[in-house]
Amino acid sequence: MSFTPALLPSLIEAIQLVIEANAEEVSALDQAIGDGDHVTNLQRGLEALMAERVELSEMDWAAAFQKMGMSLMSSVGGASGSLYGTLFLALSKAAKDQDLNLHSFAGIFNRGVDAVKQRGRAVAGEKTMLDVYIPVADYLQTAASKSVPLSDVLATVAQVAIAGMESTRDMLATKGRASFLEERSRGHIDAGAKTGQLMICAIVDVLTKQLTTPA
Ligand code: ADP
Ligand code: MG
Repeated sequence: MSFTPALLPSLIEAIQLVIEANAEEVSALDQAIGDGDHVTNLQRGLEALMAERVELSEMDWAAAFQKMGMSLMSSVGGASGSLYGTLFLALSKAAKDQDLNLHSFAGIFNRGVDAVKQRGRAVAGEKTMLDVYIPVADYLQTAASKSVPLSDVLATVAQVAIAGMESTRDMLATKGRASFLEERSRGHIDAGAKTGQLMICAIVDVLTKQLTTPA
């Protein structure tokens, strides 16, 4: 099964809704160990993607990822703006001339996450969004190398994302604003990990419905 950018409007809409529904909780998380702006930063980016969602749906993946990366780079701001911009520009490069299916997406997503690691000079365990994205990328790579049915992969991706988000609670922040708090950063979930998990779970829901609804 392969996916086309015709899916993008429903993905962007679902992501905007889930971020809106959890905005207060995410704000509280970023207020506890950051400066509180993470959710509004992200919402600006999602507004920009909403405005161009139809145009995106008519592009190929490489062009759509590139346009999204540029939009996020210029609209989001904060640390997360350049990190999400970097993610999508790297996805664009990796997606060039490829059909998107589980196997190709696992490779493309791993290249995107590697670019975020480089841009943020961060690795797993530093209490950032990468504590969601790295385990998801690793799992996708493993699942793609076996023949796990897509519906099972989607269900597991959601669990991996939630576990990654939860794992940030007890971590010591060593990157980003939360690192200024040193030991006091422990005991709070990282805001960027929370929004990463919410967005991944929203994508999983849309794709799962797509799989189970006859065309
Ligand atoms: P800012 O920290 O500039 O206010 P945001 O509030 O929008 O930006 O985003 C903060 C989130 O960005 C953090 O919760 C964390 O998940 C992520 N983050 C911050 N620094 C890094 C980094 N170096 N590498 C990866 N993710 C990071
Ligand atoms: Mg912030």
